Amino acid sequence: MKLISPYRQGPFKQYKGNLHTHTTNSDGLLPPQKAVDLYAGLGYHFLMLSDHDLVTDTRVLDPHGMTLIPGYEITAEGSHILHVKADRTLPIDADRQVMLDAINAANGLAIMNHPNWGEDFTHCEQAELEALDGYLGIEIYNGVSERAEGAALATERWDMLLSRGRRVWGFGNDDTHLAEDSGITWNMVFAEDAAEASLLESMRLGNFYVSTGIVIDSIRAEGNRIEIESHGTQCFRVVRDHGMILATVEGPVLRFEAPDVWPLSYLRVECYGAGTRMAWTQPFFADGA
Ligand SMILES: [Zn+2]
Ligand SMILES: [Zn+2]
Repeated sequence: MKLISPYRQGPFKQYKGNLHTHTTNSDGLLPPQKAVDLYAGLGYHFLMLSDHDLVTDTRVLDPHGMTLIPGYEITAEGSHILHVKADRTLPIDADRQVMLDAINAANGLAIMNHPNWGEDFTHCEQAELEALDGYLGIEIYNGVSERAEGAALATERWDMLLSRGRRVWGFGNDDTHLAEDSGITWNMVFAEDAAEASLLESMRLGNFYVSTGIVIDSIRAEGNRIEIESHGTQCFRVVRDHGMILATVEGPVLRFEAPDVWPLSYLRVECYGAGTRMAWTQPFFADGA
């Protein structure tokens, strides 16, 4: 058995970014420049302002050296979807498959947002996630949901999708509405540089991980082995199909050999650090699964 790793070896650096930020152009409380200032101050490398059904023009802003990716959040008439790399909005269609097809036709990236938001934790029902096609990933952590109804974490939704053979990546976004929503969770992208094209290509390939405070220093996979170094990780958990825990290993180094068990169509690694600090790798798919 061989694992297919989304993590490429290369002269990569790690770039920290948030793809989900509201401003006063929709229901956020920070003017666009203030939102950019805030994230630049937190040391982020890239940011997407994602107002509701409206592209905020970032070309007029001072990026403070950050890469500002244009986009917005499809909101009206259905489940919320991030349209990443969008210079204009698409006509709203309640049929979200129509929206996803339009995003892909426009060469954008689609992320299904906060599936566990809401009193009944079903902003986006699992059946809808399963029925829809053409999205790059889902938010496995949505920061603002920490202070809203429902759950910020949605890894169980992800495991259900992955177990059904769906190859979708996990994203971590603040969904910033207030200043205190910033810096809760982020995407750490391995790329040669922080140019928009480099970042988007790495995200397309899954060459990134999600964090709430843990840095993964390196990820290597060869054959059926995975090796992860993460100086802040106290404990690793290796998760496989249907959310089953394959192994629990003390940090800061994981050297894991995937066993010959069934089912094993994918595995992914969760890193537990101090307090609520965590990181989540993307899935490694079993060859032939
Ligand atoms: Zn939303
Ligand atoms: Zn939002």
